[in-house]
Amino acid sequence: MKTLPAVDAVIIGGGWTGLLMAKELGARTPISVVVLERGKARHKEDYIADMDELDYNVRFRLMQDYGLQTVSLRYTTSDRAIPIRQLGSFMPGQGTGGAGEHWGAVFPRFQPDVFELLKSTTEKYGAKRLPEGHSIVDWGITWDEIEPYYTRADKLVGVSGKAGNIRGKLIEGGNIFEGARSEEYPTPPTKVPYYASLFESAAKSLGYHPYPNPSAAISKAYTNPDGVSRPGCFYCGFCDRFGCMVSAKAQPTNTLLPLIEKQKNVSLRNGCWVRRIEYDKSGGGRARGVTYIDETGEETFQPASMVFLGSWTFNNTRLLLLSGIGEPYDPATGKGVVGRNLTHQVSFSPAQAFFEKPLNRFMGAAPAGVRMSDFDADCFDHSNLPFLRGGTFAGIGTGFQPIVGFGAVPSSVKARWGAEWKKAAVYWYDRVGNVGFAGEHIAYKDHYMDLDPTYKDHLGDPLLRLTINWRDNERKMVEFAIAKGVELARAMGAKEVVPASPYGQYDTRRYQSTHVQGGTIMGKSPEHSVVNTYGQHWQASNLFIMGASMFANNGSANPTPTLLALTYRTADAVVDRYIKHPGQLT
Ligand SMILES: Cc1cc2nc3c(=O)[nH]c(=O)nc-3n(C[C@H](O)[C@H](O)[C@H](O)COP(=O)(O)OP(=O)(O)OC[C@H]3O[C@@H](n4cnc5c(N)ncnc54)[C@H](O)[C@@H]3O)c2cc1C
Repeated sequence: MKTLPAVDAVIIGGGWTGLLMAKELGARTPISVVVLERGKARHKEDYIADMDELDYNVRFRLMQDYGLQTVSLRYTTSDRAIPIRQLGSFMPGQGTGGAGEHWGAVFPRFQPDVFELLKSTTEKYGAKRLPEGHSIVDWGITWDEIEPYYTRADKLVGVSGKAGNIRGKLIEGGNIFEGARSEEYPTPPTKVPYYASLFESAAKSLGYHPYPNPSAAISKAYTNPDGVSRPGCFYCGFCDRFGCMVSAKAQPTNTLLPLIEKQKNVSLRNGCWVRRIEYDKSGGGRARGVTYIDETGEETFQPASMVFLGSWTFNNTRLLLLSGIGEPYDPATGKGVVGRNLTHQVSFSPAQAFFEKPLNRFMGAAPAGVRMSDFDADCFDHSNLPFLRGGTFAGIGTGFQPIVGFGAVPSSVKARWGAEWKKAAVYWYDRVGNVGFAGEHIAYKDHYMDLDPTYKDHLGDPLLRLTINWRDNERKMVEFAIAKGVELARAMGAKEVVPASPYGQYDTRRYQSTHVQGGTIMGKSPEHSVVNTYGQHWQASNLFIMGASMFANNGSANPTPTLLALTYRTADAVVDRYIKHPGQLT
């Protein structure tokens, strides 16, 4: 094995979290920083005039190669897990920028009570109302502690939107249910596509409170506090699952990489597949560096004084398990922490709405649209409902592309193939839209991640095994969401409405979202969490974890604003305190 000269910091993963940390360390300290990214090099220029639906959206150009490494999945601890062979319910990224290249850029914050879910739910409804077998814990931080970091994340990407609550003052037209924010959005809301305008009118007519969807595909030209400028969106329709051809959509390659490439103390190495964080248990525990396979296939040891793990939920958890750092979670005894609280946002379309008029849905942007939070979190009373928590409904103007967006017909069309179906599918192609729903997934004691005893990746390392399924709480929330979704679709003036099927078992084939969370959760004590609230590992003070694997519970909102906010918080703690006085942060 080759051993390289030691560096001050090694960062595993070149996505949103890894590159944000690299940018912060590079700009604010003189220390040497190496980012190891297992995928290809990418630049924002790669996407200019390259909007090929077949390549990006059918053949998944930007996504993880499951032929090299996948995960296995089972519903309960007594089942045998089976490897997932095709990209389905989630679409992890690979290559510079990670999933932040092909993400949807919806940029909402969590509700304040998500961070203190156990406390707030117990206080309001009593411990008896918590779902059976739950594993809800508090994060160890409060809304007031995270809000300034949300604001920094907002400014980093220039998010477009309209505030509904600035320092406690509610503002009509914004999200009046949101936690108090300290400032207005950096840029005004995006345009509202026609389909989303129907949703907005319907929500208002039903007495709800729609607001412009927070969008990191920005409405107008913006220069962020780092001096990085991006143009406004022109609603080309190639957004989610694509890189943005003009960089209106914030991506690590257009927001962070241009700065990192100028930083002399930071280097990014592509094609470097980290297999282990080398760990020394003695003296309270310490990471010594990482071993990886470099782009030529050579096994390499990179010694480092600090290790930052930003390789996304599954890989963060797996690398800790493979490296033997911390006690793996055991659902039978409740002991151990690594792998616990696996959750996956409840994301689906409660109703499909078919309209008489064309909707022009070939134009749009993944986050351009309208959302409402009237049934999110605990914004509505659950005293007489058979479930806890909730989610947001949305009408989004995502570009409908001709391959993936084709084929929906209403129930009145009886043909399922042949000439009649083809004619109907062409007719309805631009007359159909979905009411979207994004909801919370409660953490349960026997939903967790561990190493698969049977299946291995291309290097011979055990796959990560997921044990996860939907439970009564999610199923009942979904039933509620379907009824509301149908109500909204009808109020939009749809000619025909097709309700979604109720939730049965967790389905690995249907894309849900890549908002999988937990595994290396944060908290106030090492008994219940893997890292403290700065992402610092309890058993290795020089190892910091970043990303949604830190989320103790699942909020309904998309995760990236929260994981960027937490990464900023970790960066501040490292730069301002840890580097000066290494050791456990308090
Ligand atoms: C289709 C899609 C749509 C999305 N839409 C939204 C949205 O609208 N809003 C939102 O908030 N979020 C969205 N997300 C989620 C968002 O992309 C993620 O939250 C974000 O990218 C996570 O950043 P990360 O740095 O934690 O991980 P990633 O972006 O996944 O980056 C991790 C990187 O680590 C690398 N890596 C992994 N293992 C190793 C290893 N062993 N060695 C070296 N490198 C490794 C990977 O190749 C990858 O590049 C979406 C995701 C997808 C896929």
